[in-house]
Amino acid sequence: MGDDRLRLTEEARNALWSDLIEIVEGHWRSVDSGRVAPPLDPDTLRNDLAALDLLNGLGVADAVGFARRGLTDQQVHTAHRRYFGLFNPSPTTMGVAADTLVAAFNPQLAAWSHSPFAAEVERYLVREIGVRFGFEIAEIDGVFASGGAEANHTAVLTALVNADDRYRQRGVDTASGAFTMYLTPEAHDSLRKAASISGLGFRAVREVPVTKSLRMDLEALRNLVASDRAAGFRPFLVVGTAGTTSAGIIDPLTEIADVANAEGMWFHVDAAWGGAAALSDAARPLVAGIERADSVTFDAHKWLSVPMGAGMYVTRHPEILTATFGTEDAYMPRDAAGLDVVDPFRHSIQWSRRFTGLKLFLTIAVAGWHHIAVLVEKEIALGQTLRSILSERGWRIVNQTQLPVVCFADPDAEPSDRAAADSLAQAVVKSGKAWISSTVLANGDACLRACITNFETDESDLVALAEALDSVRHRTA
Ligand SMILES: *Cc1c(COP(=O)(O)O)cnc(C)c1O
Repeated sequence: MGDDRLRLTEEARNALWSDLIEIVEGHWRSVDSGRVAPPLDPDTLRNDLAALDLLNGLGVADAVGFARRGLTDQQVHTAHRRYFGLFNPSPTTMGVAADTLVAAFNPQLAAWSHSPFAAEVERYLVREIGVRFGFEIAEIDGVFASGGAEANHTAVLTALVNADDRYRQRGVDTASGAFTMYLTPEAHDSLRKAASISGLGFRAVREVPVTKSLRMDLEALRNLVASDRAAGFRPFLVVGTAGTTSAGIIDPLTEIADVANAEGMWFHVDAAWGGAAALSDAARPLVAGIERADSVTFDAHKWLSVPMGAGMYVTRHPEILTATFGTEDAYMPRDAAGLDVVDPFRHSIQWSRRFTGLKLFLTIAVAGWHHIAVLVEKEIALGQTLRSILSERGWRIVNQTQLPVVCFADPDAEPSDRAAADSLAQAVVKSGKAWISSTVLANGDACLRACITNFETDESDLVALAEALDSVRHRTA
């Protein structure tokens, strides 16, 4: 006998599956003709939730209908072609299929022997991506993570273990000098968070000034490291970003690698978004030097458009993850003893873990690596088109990058006027016609930010964005 409330009856399941198909297809059919972003109203949402009778449970149709309405009316639609946002993609169909299969089969990626298929698919993907970054296949190792933040946290921890193998036992041992790490103000803030939660504290983070083009100033890096050493600190990590979040800036990776080598520091490249350039032969030169990284953060849930929650940490030091996360335990399955395999839980911050890699695997299995390269090149070209469209209409382009994120400002506004940039971005968002954001760059320039994030966005959407921008600019002027 099944459990009619948990498994549901076969008849109820069949009705549910066909409802789900209609919901997903209906969403994808209509999303482009609706608002990109909803009006924000937390009270209504809380009242709607409080009004549900969950003591006795709802019917399937009522429960699913509640979720469908909420998801349709109360979120920013990243599947919308005029969502020019923070790298959050329109999900690939094969990614959605994979997440459904993973939920249903529920593989456990802690011990290898519990899910050999899942573990080997992820191993395969880590190696395929690592090769494209330019690593030697025999040296590649890595692990899937919840996202770039966890991958960056992993990088800080592995760099600490690399610097001092007593870190796991003793923690951050200030008696032997405080560790310091180096990044630019354009780097992702998850690295500062990683510094604090790994026991280093924010004080370990040294902000290296940037040049006029917002890239790490190498002279400043060398000087900072030298003065820290003279003061008794222990420089252990330098982070280069390949595609900063605000402005798509790519740090001088090769030159940073030279400094890291000379100083015995771990070199981490945060390529959460921009790392996708390495998947195209034409675009790979943009991230040249990534092959010199000791470790790389890459997010498949950004440019590769798989559904949320698909970060990767990739390294060319095959022993470092076990050195950092290996454990002794009595209860984990031992079925794979003697096989040449790795238990994922000895490799990651997480223990029980979802099979994240399948959504990337099935996406690539159907699209093919060649098509991924075409996608990367197409979006880079659209970024150039958006830059031209905006500058022709009198907007000032303020970032220099070949990646498809455009930072721009109203030439009549003060460069440092965040409120002016905010009010234009908010006016576009409130119009429902497109989604863009505002930001402040490391040089203090406030600007609007539009990033090509949807694989279906085309030139007509760029023109629509420019029109929406022009109309709010004239209205607020
Ligand atoms: C998005 C991003 C992150 C954070 O990744 P999450 O997947 O959001 O955890 C880190 N670094 C860069 C450069 C990013 O673009």
